[in-house]
Amino acid sequence: MSFNLEQDLEARYAAGLYRRRKTLDSPQGPEVIINGQHYLAFCSNDYLGLANHPDVIASFRQATDNYGLGGGASHLVVGHSRAHHQLEEELAEFTGRERALLFSNGYMANLGIISALLGKQDAVFQDRLNHASLLDAGQLSGARFQRYLHNDVDNLNNRLQKTSARRKLIVTDGVFSMDGDVAPVKALSDLAEQYQAWLMVDDAHGFGFLGETGGGVAEAYGLSQKELPVLVGTLGKAFGTSGAFVAGSDALIETLIQFARTYIYTTSMPPAVASATRTSLLLLQEQHWRREHLQSLIQYFRFGCEQLGLPLMPSQTPIQPLLIGCERRAMEMSKRLSEQGILVTAIRPPTVPKGSSRLRITFSASHELHHVDRLLDALKMAAQSVGTVDFSDEPAVLTDSLPMTGVLS
Ligand SMILES: *Cc1c(COP(=O)(O)O)cnc(C)c1O
Repeated sequence: MSFNLEQDLEARYAAGLYRRRKTLDSPQGPEVIINGQHYLAFCSNDYLGLANHPDVIASFRQATDNYGLGGGASHLVVGHSRAHHQLEEELAEFTGRERALLFSNGYMANLGIISALLGKQDAVFQDRLNHASLLDAGQLSGARFQRYLHNDVDNLNNRLQKTSARRKLIVTDGVFSMDGDVAPVKALSDLAEQYQAWLMVDDAHGFGFLGETGGGVAEAYGLSQKELPVLVGTLGKAFGTSGAFVAGSDALIETLIQFARTYIYTTSMPPAVASATRTSLLLLQEQHWRREHLQSLIQYFRFGCEQLGLPLMPSQTPIQPLLIGCERRAMEMSKRLSEQGILVTAIRPPTVPKGSSRLRITFSASHELHHVDRLLDALKMAAQSVGTVDFSDEPAVLTDSLPMTGVLS
């Protein structure tokens, strides 16, 4: 029996859902190099422009003198360095929580946290647009799993009324990764209190941008540890490094150290990454100009799109999706932008619901206003040329030629 992988690959291709990697030969920044070509990029999550910051890199280098490179073991064996420990203490203070715990990445943090907190007698309630790692974590936990309508507090209320589960966990993205809108965290926290549930917020995209000192939705809406007991952040986005953390009570952190399998059974992140993150945490808190500059880029871009009649989604964050709808049209827009030297990714199902494909445009504090001007000009050109094409009954993506012969014959 053959696995017939080619058949599935061809079906994905024919549906306009085929994905391809681009190979970078440069650091993250407004300009990136791919296959020797320079592009102006609007698709990274390096919101504050710290991924290539000299101070962060210097801290990394210096830490390799003290700690070498590899973590060497799991945190519970001999992989928990002073650098990890200091970063955890600083993240606890930053978030106003009793303690914080580092994970190797956000995906593993979410899997580990939800499955350590919940079992078969419990129930998890998730926004239907939550990040894939949260949805997967809900499944893995074995708890009764429900998805409520996006940001719909009444819909969640109805569901909470009907449950008799032991523990009830409400889980939401802080800033939604593909939409850029913000969860109604205050209302969710009130509901949690009413039903003696817990609220968990994954603020991967809010940290660094929202809140006076970049503390994300928790800071922006003033949610205490009691109101928001499980607060997750990732370090690979605005922090510009790699990894993730959860912040909360002493009991929560001890529970995770004892029971979170993705914490226990994996090698710690390289200690030098933790050291570098300590520096980016300082920059993130202190350099308010990065948040202010992002705000002005966002306002400038939104005004420009309004002038051009482009259908932006209602977002006030650095994630500014342009709704296209049809998968193929989104791909074609992305392609025509890249022909003009602009890199913007088309986001398609299953990452977003069918028929809601979009260009996910993201801004970084390292962008300048003239970069936004170039983006607006290119969007105008691309929209004009793609606007006339009818994709409704095309059999396949004709614009995105297959990369190789033989594999998909
Ligand atoms: C990116 C992201 C993650 C995954 O974090 P990694 O550290 O990249 O694994 C988790 N949750 C959300 C909401 C994200 O956007």
